[in-house]
Amino acid sequence: MRKQVIIGNWKMFKTNSEAKKFMKLAEKGFKTKPDLIAGVAVSATLLDTVKTNSKKLVVSAQNVHFEQSGAYTGEISIPMLKDININYSLVGHSERREYFNDTDEVINKKVKALLAANMTPVLCCGESLETFEKGKTIEFVKAQLVADFAGVSKEDAVKVIVAYEPIWAIGTGKVATPEIAQNVCKGVRDIIADLYDQATADQVVIQYGGSVKPDNVKQILSQPDIDGALVGGASLEVDSFLALLV
Ligand code: PEP
Repeated sequence: MRKQVIIGNWKMFKTNSEAKKFMKLAEKGFKTKPDLIAGVAVSATLLDTVKTNSKKLVVSAQNVHFEQSGAYTGEISIPMLKDININYSLVGHSERREYFNDTDEVINKKVKALLAANMTPVLCCGESLETFEKGKTIEFVKAQLVADFAGVSKEDAVKVIVAYEPIWAIGTGKVATPEIAQNVCKGVRDIIADLYDQATADQVVIQYGGSVKPDNVKQILSQPDIDGALVGGASLEVDSFLALLV
């Protein structure tokens, strides 16, 4: 039985004092459920504060470098994350792919480095509006996933959370219909089954992301191949974040 995983992606928002205030209220309001993992992916400066103020919610980095240490100005390493008990990191968010040159080759190295450190990669994939309109979504996502999972063993593949996020739905208010989201998330599962086997694919948690809000989250999460959500805008305010978790 797959768990439901809902992660708020704060992107480049919040100061430490804002994050602390959010966490106090969110921890108080979050009613845990045995099959739900919920948390937030935050900027590097907030990781320690948010982790220190979290008991029930998990805390994720938004990015990580694949090397253990070195001359990589501005980056953060896996040992740095582990040192403050961070066990999740987003990898290959479309904003990182677009603005920071995160290629599939780099993303693959990050996925493997996180798995080697017993951390959970939340691997983002998804197509542009142009690709969607050409009807080439599955082909595009398949190329991403084949490259991103290269050299990952079957035993490790089940530990990866895949977030399908159509770029045209991120921050635009244009949510994919539940049918489109289900269809592509099922496609993602089929791609993983082709790469490994059906039993492996059946264990992988697949999230949908793209303008998920309290008023559409239930319908999205009721789809059979959607096991959770990666949520940007609607995760920034405590009330709206908590309303995603009911
Ligand atoms: C995201 O940041 O991954 C995202 C899905 O953003 P939003 O929910 O705002 O579309």
